[in-house]
Amino acid sequence: MTPSQIGSDQHRPLRVAVVGAGPSGFYAVAALLDAPDLHVSIDVFDRLPAPFGLVRYGVAPDHEKIKRVDRVFDKTARDPRVRYYGNVALGRDVSRRELLDLYDAVIYAVGAQSDRRLGIPGEDLDGSWSSTEFVAWYNGHPDFAAAEYPLSHRQVAVVGIGNVAMDCARLLARPAEDLASTDISDTALEVFRDSRVEDVHILARRGPAQAACTPSELKELGELDGVDVIVDPAALDDPEMAGEADRQTKKNLDLFREFAEGGEGDADGEARRRIHFHFLASPVEVLDDGDGRVEGLVVEDNELVERDGRLRPEGTGRRRELPVSAVIRAIGYRSVPLPDVPFDEAWGIIPNRDGRVTTWRDGTREEEAPVQPREYVVGWAKRGPSGLIGTNKADSNDTVERLLEDAGEWVHDEGAGDGEVARDEEGRAAIEELLRQRGVPWVDYAGWQAIEKLETERGAESGRPRAKICRVDELLEASGTLPAAARAESA
Ligand code: NAP
Repeated sequence: MTPSQIGSDQHRPLRVAVVGAGPSGFYAVAALLDAPDLHVSIDVFDRLPAPFGLVRYGVAPDHEKIKRVDRVFDKTARDPRVRYYGNVALGRDVSRRELLDLYDAVIYAVGAQSDRRLGIPGEDLDGSWSSTEFVAWYNGHPDFAAAEYPLSHRQVAVVGIGNVAMDCARLLARPAEDLASTDISDTALEVFRDSRVEDVHILARRGPAQAACTPSELKELGELDGVDVIVDPAALDDPEMAGEADRQTKKNLDLFREFAEGGEGDADGEARRRIHFHFLASPVEVLDDGDGRVEGLVVEDNELVERDGRLRPEGTGRRRELPVSAVIRAIGYRSVPLPDVPFDEAWGIIPNRDGRVTTWRDGTREEEAPVQPREYVVGWAKRGPSGLIGTNKADSNDTVERLLEDAGEWVHDEGAGDGEVARDEEGRAAIEELLRQRGVPWVDYAGWQAIEKLETERGAESGRPRAKICRVDELLEASGTLPAAARAESA
């Protein structure tokens, strides 16, 4: 069979499983649906009942416009060639081997669910929080429905100067009444309403010209009501700084200059909160109050040294203490290994060559690693946690192109050594039969639409786009998903 015949109408459709219903997964689904003359059938799995991954659980609640990309994914999901299986986790409910037996190809689109570590003493004290978890909590992620982030102290540090750090700092500083019209979780809204935070300290280990945040995120900090943004003008007086800077850096530097010119103290003297930028500053120890809680942060001043073509921070030995009672570590996300799927610990990704999963482990040269046939990866699990949501579109398109290039080989070679590749109808029935036998209550797309309807109705009562349901059992109930036993009987 030639690649152009695969999935053509004369043959059964190409059956693809996409693991992960976030942006990179949905962009991959869209690329498959858009492939000319391709007869395709796609099953999308997500370990959570609700789809859309980072759009629902990562994008800040006050960035409603960015969240609206879910409309694009919704349109994709409604295509009759696509089926959704929410609340189905790879490794818990279905194995990698079973997916490979039931589908022609598997695309991993699992994102990056964990965070990088600082590797300093006191990092695990009560009050030292990972931004991944803090962000997921205020966005109503079921894994953190019971988590507690008391904002009962005046001083908080945010480590890192990427966009996640900007989101965290903005939410901590923003008046809670601004959040009341967003889809923030009910629990988080209450906590932000009672917040006693007055000072948010952003720690950048390098200088203002190396800030990873984008200008639009930075600008927003200056637009918050009743909030001063404080930058020491001395941090900006290096005339070389903007020398070779790209457009983004130049815009960031202009904004830092505006903040610095604003000086300490709000123009109208009414600032309720302050955001302080500390450049060339690395945390070296989180201090313990004697009861296992954060009592302060020891910070070391850095200087920049050029190594391997990059400006890197190097400690000067000069240390000082910030009297903070909470530390949010926003220094980057990291993927989590999937059971039985190759994982590169050093890079925190699924090893791959242009999206084709390889067996590459630490120590093997990337270009020599053998490809694992019929397995692909997209998004942050493929390239690491970088880029905006839209960045995933081109990235997923590339992986799907590779998949379609390869498809001729394995559809032709049906079953060879890799288990029987099922016919479409049989395959569809088989996955559901398998889930039923295991008692997995999966949420289909109609189930998600029922959740969404309930959330939007509840939200409308208080002028919000939605009031999120944050617990798995309540999401299942709202979806109308039958308990597995009842589903088996009705089958
Ligand atoms: P990021 O952009 O990679 O920023 C990570 C920050 O942590 C950098 O400032 C980095 O500094 C710092 N860092 C790393 N290791 C550190 C250490 N050991 N000590 C101190 N600082 C350390 O990552 P992110 O903020 O998690 O964002 C991930 C991606 O999502 C980015 O592409 C971001 O633009 C995107 N995002 C977009 C939005 C939006 O569009 N609104 C919102 C959130 C996230 P160095 O530069 O020195 O390494």
